[in-house]
Amino acid sequence: MNRSDAIEKAIAKLTPYFADRLSRNRTVCELHAHGEGFSEQHPPHAVVFAETTQDVSFALKICNDLGVPVIAFGAGTSLEGQINAVSGGISIDLSRMNKVLEVNAGDMDCRVQAGVTRQELNVYLRDEGLFFPVDPGGEATIGGMCATRASGTGAVRYGTIRENVLGLTVVLADGRIMRTGRRVRKSATGYDLVHLMIGSEGTLGIITEVQVRLHGVPETMAAAVCQFESLADCVQTAVQVMQMSVPIGRMELLDDVQMDACIQYSKLDGYRPVPTMFFEFQGGPEAVKEQVETVEAIVADNKGSAFQWSTRADERSALWKARHAVYWACLAYRPGHIGISTDAIVPISALTEMILGAKEDILASGIVAPIVGHIGDGNFHTVMLVPSGGDWAERAHALDQKLVARALALGGSASGEHGIGMAKMKCMSSEHDAVSLDVMRAIKKTLDPNNILNPGKLLPAVA
Ligand SMILES: Cc1cc2nc3c(=O)[nH]c(=O)nc-3n(C[C@H](O)[C@H](O)[C@H](O)COP(=O)(O)OP(=O)(O)OC[C@H]3O[C@@H](n4cnc5c(N)ncnc54)[C@H](O)[C@@H]3O)c2cc1C
Repeated sequence: MNRSDAIEKAIAKLTPYFADRLSRNRTVCELHAHGEGFSEQHPPHAVVFAETTQDVSFALKICNDLGVPVIAFGAGTSLEGQINAVSGGISIDLSRMNKVLEVNAGDMDCRVQAGVTRQELNVYLRDEGLFFPVDPGGEATIGGMCATRASGTGAVRYGTIRENVLGLTVVLADGRIMRTGRRVRKSATGYDLVHLMIGSEGTLGIITEVQVRLHGVPETMAAAVCQFESLADCVQTAVQVMQMSVPIGRMELLDDVQMDACIQYSKLDGYRPVPTMFFEFQGGPEAVKEQVETVEAIVADNKGSAFQWSTRADERSALWKARHAVYWACLAYRPGHIGISTDAIVPISALTEMILGAKEDILASGIVAPIVGHIGDGNFHTVMLVPSGGDWAERAHALDQKLVARALALGGSASGEHGIGMAKMKCMSSEHDAVSLDVMRAIKKTLDPNNILNPGKLLPAVA
């Protein structure tokens, strides 16, 4: 049977089960055809809206028997072409799996369905004095965050999604349901299947439930902004804060261009378009005081401005809202342009060389590309803003490759958090040796012998 016949047959078998939760509507399929910032369209043939683990298992059994591609869909905020249905097939949308299943306040963990978003979880937890700290800028689902190994501004203190997941329920390609991981902080029993799934981008299984760690809401929080005349001084400040082991809550760098975009988009009155650092200090009052004193001294040594404080909750949240909106601020900065985002990470000691080199590369390219970074992790992004015609997209991709090559040469990685998808598959063989890639392919073959799970992503074909 050819692929189109197999897909039609699968849809015919799925329709009585899913009824009005299966859609072939063109608009619905187009909404599942690509993520953010990746304009190529690859719609699936149909979308099914799962509400339970059993729904996912049923759909996978049928698709596996017929060799039909299946693409898990969370919120569609991924940036590297992860959800494009490059070979057509069925998109399994998990956004209706949005229940918080249990909260164990005493153990500081909870279990959620995969379609719960990070903000939904934090609203749910509001009265518990607990919160979930992983905060990518997009309103992502927790299943999608596991699948892309996401992080955000809180990673410098609380770690990425990898450090905050204890267990998973995963439906395997053949429909079998695997519950792996326990409600404990550590365990030494066999292969770590939880973390095998983290970052697998829907290519090894579909996550339907996640056991996550929670954290106590800090007693005191204070946000501060300081500005620098030079990018080198700004980066050096971040490096020294990390090298002094200050338990900083958040620390984000915005270069002059990014700051200009944010001032305009988020109406950040009173700030100048120069390299800028956003800090958040968290802890008991004494701990916060100590952190502030240490960081203020580092800033002064690096010729930074005095701190501009936001201690009130509304001011703090306006500041971090502006930080989370940098992607939209970039798009608004050059109306009519497309934004192609980059993501690379280096060891802390290489940050100054990396960021200053990136700035040089950007200036030489003639592309407007603001730099923003989860700088305490060594991770930074640009959004390359290019007109949609001419050879601009190729020029942007060449710049992206240059930044990745720089990061790899400095011992870094091609992606700190956005993942691989279609866009970064080439980087896999620059970063991983042939043996590592062989092992990855062997794992894929074992778990998904018919290659139905998100085919054409993450692992480049053998040359
Ligand atoms: C404005 C903006 C800012 C962003 N900032 C950050 C940031 O700071 N840090 C960061 O890490 N990312 C960031 N991102 C990227 C994005 O939010 C993350 O990649 C996020 O984790 C994707 O989650 P999602 O639910 O949207 O997944 P989707 O985009 O729907 O899917 C992403 C991938 O995961 C797979 N998948 C989805 N759900 C499941 C599941 N339940 N089981 C198995 N596979 C699944 C999909 O098949 C796909 O391969 C940003 C995006 C935007 C638009």
